[in-house]
Amino acid sequence: MSGHKTMKAVDFLDLLRGMDNHAYGSYRRLKNTCIAFDDFHFCFRHIQGSPGAMPASVCEINLPASNFPIPIRARSNDARSMAAADFVLRSFTRGVKAVAHQNRGVDGSGSYQCSRMPQQILERNAVIFSAAETSILFRVSLPGSRSKQVLAGEAEAMFFRELVDIVQRVKDDVGDCQRLRSQCELVEDMLHVQDQLEEHGLVAFIADGSNLPRASGVSDKPARRGVVPFRTPEEASVVLDFPNAGKVSGLGIHKGVTVVIGGGFHGKSTLLNALGRGIYPHVAGDGRERVVSSKRAMMVCAEDGRSIKGLDISSFIGTLPEKADPRRLFSKNASGSTSEAAAIVESMLAGADLLLIDEDSSATNFLMRDRHMRKLIPDDPITPLLDRVRQLYEDHRVSTLIIAGGSSDYLGVADHVIAMRDYLPVDMTAEARDLDLPRTHPPAGPLTLSDRRQMLPGNFDPCYINARMNKQVPIRIKALRGQEFEIIEYGMDLIDVRSLKGIVDADQMLTIGHCLLLARRLELAAKGLAPSVLARELIDVLREKGLDVLQPPQSPPVFFAAIRLLELAGAINRLRSLAVQLAEQ
Ligand code: ADP
Ligand code: MG
Repeated sequence: MSGHKTMKAVDFLDLLRGMDNHAYGSYRRLKNTCIAFDDFHFCFRHIQGSPGAMPASVCEINLPASNFPIPIRARSNDARSMAAADFVLRSFTRGVKAVAHQNRGVDGSGSYQCSRMPQQILERNAVIFSAAETSILFRVSLPGSRSKQVLAGEAEAMFFRELVDIVQRVKDDVGDCQRLRSQCELVEDMLHVQDQLEEHGLVAFIADGSNLPRASGVSDKPARRGVVPFRTPEEASVVLDFPNAGKVSGLGIHKGVTVVIGGGFHGKSTLLNALGRGIYPHVAGDGRERVVSSKRAMMVCAEDGRSIKGLDISSFIGTLPEKADPRRLFSKNASGSTSEAAAIVESMLAGADLLLIDEDSSATNFLMRDRHMRKLIPDDPITPLLDRVRQLYEDHRVSTLIIAGGSSDYLGVADHVIAMRDYLPVDMTAEARDLDLPRTHPPAGPLTLSDRRQMLPGNFDPCYINARMNKQVPIRIKALRGQEFEIIEYGMDLIDVRSLKGIVDADQMLTIGHCLLLARRLELAAKGLAPSVLARELIDVLREKGLDVLQPPQSPPVFFAAIRLLELAGAINRLRSLAVQLAEQ
């Protein structure tokens, strides 16, 4: 890299010792310095200004292929490379946990700051393989004292003892070919089958033997005790060919409308949530390694209070009180039903081919209306999903899997009915057909799927202004401290995507934020595009150029993880500051 100076480890040690007790700012001298150890070298890419600064300092470590070989088989295709890169990053993170002391200085400084790794395996920019080397980007907070001085002894321990130790552990892990190979094979299998689903007429697949329940409502880790492994009854069983695992039997979710029924606590939501995450490969031991959903599957739910900007939801919502026009709905505080309608329309505009819907997280009046209510309230503005769900499939090839345990209405529109009983699926399609099912109601009008919205120039302004403190930050894209990772600050706005279940990692949030910034840099934000069209263009840029195209020039390196078009469009649609105009019809 240009502008870098390289020094020997012994010289670095001298430099460090000479800085002991100097002002914290003297660490800045290390910026763009590369230090050559015997087996590897590492560079300081960004140096923090104070011990508690966020972001902290960023280092890049380079491990030459000569003494840190990544097996060819672990890099022979994109799926395997992604798996191997993820393996290296997890190994580094484990190494930090095992050997680093952490919090050696004030304000959490003197620590390695590793990203929390989710159960899902994502493409990231933190680990890059080339023919010559493996590079790992990592964050450290350099140790500082209460009086804001350099703690050289602590820094020495971090880089000369701990880092050397961590690197050795990564080397050992990668050398243990069995585990690396197994992760590469799992990911390759999953992504291969995902590509093949369509050919089999499927939108999802759950292998027998999968363990779906999670440790708790706030943990995505597998439940450990009393888990009933997934098993498909013979008559409903599908066998798919995995490149490495061979033939695997399981439950195939076919295209069309699938309704999941069953008593409370029988594992319906657990199944649906697993499918929601089945868009990504999972790490070994997760239990969902062979749960495979369509790449374009989307979980949708009610999200009252969200913002809607000019979206046409007239397929589901008729004339609203106070003359809000559902063909161009603006709302700062959407209701449960309008928000769920918006989520479906937005997902379809962004190319979803499978909607995953749980009655637990839906607006009941959006899902269905029984015949007595239809009689009593004939002019309800809502066209329930029940009346549209067949049309979604027949006219738009969008399949739906919906949990509807509370009413038999959906059985009348189902192609397939699966009951969950004691956590196991039972095919009840035939039984449901034999019932005297309620007549389905033809929808009030055509299902319109168009987006006439044009985003105005000026959207996605990243500048943050604090008038009270007379402070202005030109680019503010950062985690909101103390909040869930699904909310970040962007300029004066927040990106809040807690309802998008396809977001599993904090680094995906930074990717979303920096995509918006890129839209400005590339002047895509001023082209008057609709949100999903802009999202598509941005995803195309990422696909072509890689995640690092998002790095803002002259800024500390940012850690990114890949996102889908569906979540990017979802995030843009939820921005409260989004400004649109409507094209003439
Ligand atoms: P439902 O949506 O049908 O009411 P849930 O999916 O919420 O049921 O599951 C109810 C409880 O059963 C949850 O605590 C869940 O973790 C647990 N559970 C789900 N599937 C299994 C399973 N296969 N083995 C053991 N426990 C399970
Ligand atoms: Mg449930």
